[in-house]
Amino acid sequence: MDFKLNDEQELFVANIRELMASENWETYFAECDEAHVYPERWVKAICELGFDQIMLPEEHGGLELGLVTLTAVYEELGRWGAPTYVLYQLPCFDTILREGTQEQIDKVLAYVGTGKQIWNSACTEPGAGSDVAALQTNYTRKNGKIYLNGQKIFITSSKTVPYLVIMARSADEENVFSEFFVDMSLPGIKTEPLTKLGLRMDSCCAVYLDNVELEEKDIFGKEGNGFRRGVKDFDFERFLVGACDYGWALCAFEDAVKYANQRVAFGQAIGRFQLIQLKVAEMAVRLNAMKNMLYEAACAYDEGNMTSAQAAMIKYYCPTAAAEVVDRAIQILGGVGVTADHRVQRFFRDLRVERISGGTDEMMILTLAKGVLRSYKN
Ligand SMILES: Cc1cc2nc3c(=O)[nH]c(=O)nc-3n(C[C@H](O)[C@H](O)[C@H](O)COP(=O)(O)OP(=O)(O)OC[C@H]3O[C@@H](n4cnc5c(N)ncnc54)[C@H](O)[C@@H]3O)c2cc1C
Repeated sequence: MDFKLNDEQELFVANIRELMASENWETYFAECDEAHVYPERWVKAICELGFDQIMLPEEHGGLELGLVTLTAVYEELGRWGAPTYVLYQLPCFDTILREGTQEQIDKVLAYVGTGKQIWNSACTEPGAGSDVAALQTNYTRKNGKIYLNGQKIFITSSKTVPYLVIMARSADEENVFSEFFVDMSLPGIKTEPLTKLGLRMDSCCAVYLDNVELEEKDIFGKEGNGFRRGVKDFDFERFLVGACDYGWALCAFEDAVKYANQRVAFGQAIGRFQLIQLKVAEMAVRLNAMKNMLYEAACAYDEGNMTSAQAAMIKYYCPTAAAEVVDRAIQILGGVGVTADHRVQRFFRDLRVERISGGTDEMMILTLAKGVLRSYKN
């Protein structure tokens, strides 16, 4: 398959490359990771180049350049070791434009170009992870208002986002799941940050909802459609997880291969030893498989054909394949890889989390296998 970029795409990627080369961003990323802080200055810088407009339709002031372009940008950013996972919500305007009211759309689009975190969705609860339908957060109507009660957990960005789309079950009809566009400054909302192994430049909190008073206009999408809405948008998020993972693997690979050519042991570059060459070959195979999988799916997405099975395959394969690449990179880097705060350590931690957040490996296997089996039914 030929994934050659057109001139417009090449120019966009070249601008990103120039920005990444303009300063030592790695020092900034390392500081933000250490302090568990969102790298807003960097996100603002890429948004000023139009990052958050890549998937935004032209009629909303966007560039509408498609997922292949976004993939190429993720690949370039990843190659520089950038924490692309903090960007998940920025290309996801499709959801708000499809489901949101004009007021909700205006609130979200007001943040385009700012680099600030805008919103995220909250489904998971202490008793409902993979089994989202077990959620207990409920909503009930009283005196013309809607009241939200319950607890969410592991909610990305929830420490700072101004809005959360929260899924809840009707207190009157237990099989009715709806979502609400919730202003996080409302009374009755409390967040409690959690520390995590990786992905530390984005927050992750438990969110407590105690009689949060909402209006009918705060319903997100169609009442009763919450569960189907969430499932539909998971595919895009799963794709982005794979795009991040591939980028970091590429970065670790390039660090390790350059090192293998320079580092001398027993009188020769370590890259001349067959045991090192095996690792380089195994890394190259995984990188190639990830790259092809991602660009193939991105092309399908731009043509309106990406399937849930394809997204699940990416989300299942990439975190593990990328972790295997990073692990080999650390081995090639030897002592340097495990000391001196080398960036491969951050990738190692981040990638382990990726196998759980956004849907576990096990759930991806089930979605992928069901999709494959279905495609052979006549
Ligand atoms: C860093 C991070 C960020 C997150 N961000 C968000 C967010 O922004 N919004 C949000 O709503 N959620 C978020 N999540 C929640 C995430 O989607 C869930 O953690 C994930 O779906 C798994 O749920 P769980 O942790 O409750 O594990 P469980 O569902 O309890 O699973 C535990 C283990 O059992 C396995 N298992 C469960 N069911 C089956 C089955 N049928 N067959 C085989 N194995 C099974 C799982 O695969 C896993 O290995 C985040 C999680 C993390 C870690």
